[in-house]
Amino acid sequence: MNMTVCKFGGTSLADGNNIRRAAEIVLSDPSRKFAVVSAPGKRYSDDVKVTDLLYESFKESRGKDRCGEAFAKIRKRFLSIVAELGLNFDITPILDRTEADIAASGSADFAASRGEYLNARIVAVLLGWEFVDAKDIIFFDEKGAFDEKRSYPLIEARLSAAKHAVIPGFYGTGADGEIKTFSRGGSDISGSIVARAVNADLYENWTDVSGFLACDPRIVQSPEKIEVISFKELRELSYMGANVLHAEAIFPVRKGDIPIKIKNTFRPDDAGTLILPSKKYTPHGNIVTGIAGKKDFTVIFLEKSLMNSEIGFARRALSILERERINFEHMPSGIDTLSLVIESKYLKDGVLDRLIDEMKAELRPDYIRVLEDIALVATVGHGMAKNVGTSARLFAALSDAGVNVRMIDQGSSELNIIVGIDNEDYEKCVRAIYREFFEKK
Ligand code: ASP
Repeated sequence: MNMTVCKFGGTSLADGNNIRRAAEIVLSDPSRKFAVVSAPGKRYSDDVKVTDLLYESFKESRGKDRCGEAFAKIRKRFLSIVAELGLNFDITPILDRTEADIAASGSADFAASRGEYLNARIVAVLLGWEFVDAKDIIFFDEKGAFDEKRSYPLIEARLSAAKHAVIPGFYGTGADGEIKTFSRGGSDISGSIVARAVNADLYENWTDVSGFLACDPRIVQSPEKIEVISFKELRELSYMGANVLHAEAIFPVRKGDIPIKIKNTFRPDDAGTLILPSKKYTPHGNIVTGIAGKKDFTVIFLEKSLMNSEIGFARRALSILERERINFEHMPSGIDTLSLVIESKYLKDGVLDRLIDEMKAELRPDYIRVLEDIALVATVGHGMAKNVGTSARLFAALSDAGVNVRMIDQGSSELNIIVGIDNEDYEKCVRAIYREFFEKK
C-alpha cells in the first residue's frame, strides 16, 4: 500500500474546529500513516500565532523565575482547543511544566518549539495515534545544519515500530543536546525529512491555499493555478513559493524522488499543486509554468578590457562579497563585463560605497556603474527549451508594454529567463508576460 506523510500548517490547526477538520482529512485516507504538525496559527487576520506568543513569553521570563502575560494567552489558547475538541485530556499539568521549563531554560528555541510540541500532543490524542517527540529523532550537527546521517536511521527505526504517529514539526535536538529549531516556517522541513526517512510515496503539505498560482494574484486577477510543477521549476520560482512552502523543504524529499502535494485544508477537494522530481515530470501544455519576481535589487556593473583573459577576476570580485558576507543573486557576464545582482537590503548604511571602493582598488575596472531600484522577474518553464521563439515572444511583449529591460540572465538549462527592470515597471512586466503566455497561448 502507498504511504503518505502529511504535514498540517498553523492556520490549518489554529483552533479546535480546524484541528477537527484536519483530523478528518488525515483519517479519510489509510495511506496517511504519519502526521507532522505546526503550532496553532492565526485564527483571524490580526490574531497572534502561538509561536510568536512563545517568543514573547520567553522575553517576558528573562530575569524572572516565571512567565508572564504572553504565556497566560498561550495557556488559554490550548485549554480552549482541548475544550472545543471535547477531549478527555488533562493538558493543565503539561502546560504548568512547559511554563516552568520556559522560565528555567534560557533558550528561545526551546520556548518557540513548545507550540508544535503541545499541538502534536493534542492531535495525537484526537487521532488516537502515538506521539513521537521530534527531539528524539531529528538532530542538528555542530554547524547547526540538519544531521541527516544521524537522524534518518533513527527516524526510520522509531517510526517503523509505530503503526501511526504524530510528530511535532519545527524542532529537533542540537549538537549540545538542547532543543533547536529550524528557521521560521520550518515544520515544512520536518515533514519533508520524515517523508524521506520513511521513504514515503508522497509528502502532503496541507495549508490554507489550493497550491501555487502562475503568478502573484495581487498583480494579475485570478491567475491560472499550477497543477503540476517540477522541483527545479519551483526552485527557480522561489520568490513565489515563500509563503506557501518553506524554500528548504524541497531538499530532503527531492533527494528521495518523493513528490510533494500542496493541498488546502479548507477546500480539500481542490486539486492543489503536485511538485514532481524531474524524472517523473513530463512538460505538458503550457510553455511557461509560472512567473515570479521581487523588487529592490542593486546591480554593480564592472567593465574591464580583456577581462576574459585576466585569470581570477570573477573570483576576486566574489571574494570581496564573501569578505563582506553578502549574498549575490545572479552574475550575468559578457566578454569584458561582469554584473553582480545583489538584494539592496544588504547594501545599506555605507556598505555599497565600501564595496565600490574595494572593487576599484582590488579589481581596477575601467568602468564601474551601479543600477539601483531594480526588480527581477523570472519566467520559468521546462517547455521553454523546446519551443523556438519563446524569448522573442517575451521580449516583444515587454517592448509592446513599454518596459525597459536593464538586464537579462538566462540559465543554461533554458528553464528560465530572468529580466532586470526598474522597480516601477515590475507590475507592468509581470502582467505583460502573463498576458503573452497564459492569455494568448
Ligand atoms: N510554528 C513555527 C513558525 O511559526 C514553524 C511553522 O509554523 O512551520 O514559524
